[in-house]
Amino acid sequence: MLERVPLLEKCLADYADVAGADTIGRIRAAAEPLRGARILHVNATAYGGGVAELLATHVPLLRDLGIEAEWQVIHGSDEFFAITKNVHNALQGAAIEWTADMQRIYLEKVLDNALLMEGEFDYVVIHDPQPAAILALAGASSVNGPNTKWIWRCHIDLTAANPEVWEFFRPYVEQHDASVWTMPEFVPSSLSMDRIVQAPPCIDPLSVKNLDLPEPFMREIVKQYGIDPERPLLCQVSRYDPWKDPIGVIEAYRLVKQDIPDVQLVLAGSMATDDPEGFQVWEEVDAAREGDRDIHLLSNIQQVGNVQINAFQRAADVVIQKSLREGFGLTVSEGLWKGRPVIGGRAGGITLQIHDGENGYLVDTVEQCAQHSVELLKNPERASAMGESGKEHVRKNFLSTRELEDWITLFNQLAG
Ligand code: UDP
Repeated sequence: MLERVPLLEKCLADYADVAGADTIGRIRAAAEPLRGARILHVNATAYGGGVAELLATHVPLLRDLGIEAEWQVIHGSDEFFAITKNVHNALQGAAIEWTADMQRIYLEKVLDNALLMEGEFDYVVIHDPQPAAILALAGASSVNGPNTKWIWRCHIDLTAANPEVWEFFRPYVEQHDASVWTMPEFVPSSLSMDRIVQAPPCIDPLSVKNLDLPEPFMREIVKQYGIDPERPLLCQVSRYDPWKDPIGVIEAYRLVKQDIPDVQLVLAGSMATDDPEGFQVWEEVDAAREGDRDIHLLSNIQQVGNVQINAFQRAADVVIQKSLREGFGLTVSEGLWKGRPVIGGRAGGITLQIHDGENGYLVDTVEQCAQHSVELLKNPERASAMGESGKEHVRKNFLSTRELEDWITLFNQLAG
């Protein structure tokens, strides 16, 4: 059997205060026909990164609706995850060599996982490329029953996908009954499927990462990490990945510092088991820091967990997500939900979340990132008005309840 991810219990009724009692009632009614349905989500990692973040809330909420939902992760090897990270980069537009050997190693490992799958399910949702070929390799196993509906959820921006790598994956993806995307623009025109759905991700307003923190507690946490809560703070939370442009954030911070000498920067990024590039990028970012004690380079290795991320995002005067490519960028909604203005790279799903000049800024360069940071640091009233408008944007569009409703709709349609 694949590894099952242990989950906390969550109760949909608790979301009535933030999402509205009407929404909760509507979701319950829509989910009624799915009571007792067996749903399996499969991805590559139980922690680190947005997909793990989403499933940790989504699956417990499905359970609260009387659905038998499970989350399982595939197992890999350093070699396999190095290849799938290359695939991830290629699908985001990087040039890589996609050799026959890499394809063989990828398929062999997915086959190992397909053979480990057990149980019977009404719906199986496969997340991202790592397990994308599992349906093709599951053959006649019990998980692939005659009525099982298979869905591929793509969290990546494929607008500039490397054609060779995408053409390798396309036939595997097309075997699914539906695919789900963050933005319609991400769907390659070559993809031929009957059901292609848009459903952007979301944040859980009640998770430890996002719930309200009393100010003294928040200040105490940031102080423990050497950050001075009295001084201006910029913050980017993300995996150590070149697409998140941590070096660009340091360059922007340096420009800000010329104008605002006491500014500080926190870069917090967890190391995910399916992301071997993380350790190398960490070294590069550490070198770029050049020993500057106002740049706080942190990760789960310094026990930065959800509470700390919550505190850093709340303590920040400006939240940054300067990605060069981005599927969605949960950290943007996380920042906005905390009433902070967010400066984001003009990339993928960030453009759904930031309305330029209203709740933050979309930027294309280090200079623009620095210029808007200075402007917001010098104008706290404008910054907090932007943050408030961002919070309402997230409330309407990017909370777990909205995403749950999208999935329930899709499951019902596929049953129908
Ligand atoms: N995250 C975290 N700790 C870290 C770095 C990231 O908890 O040190 C979380 C972050 O708060 C967000 C998720 O990981 O919830 C990252 O999701 P996002 O969509 O921003 O990017 P991805 O990693 O999926 O590309």
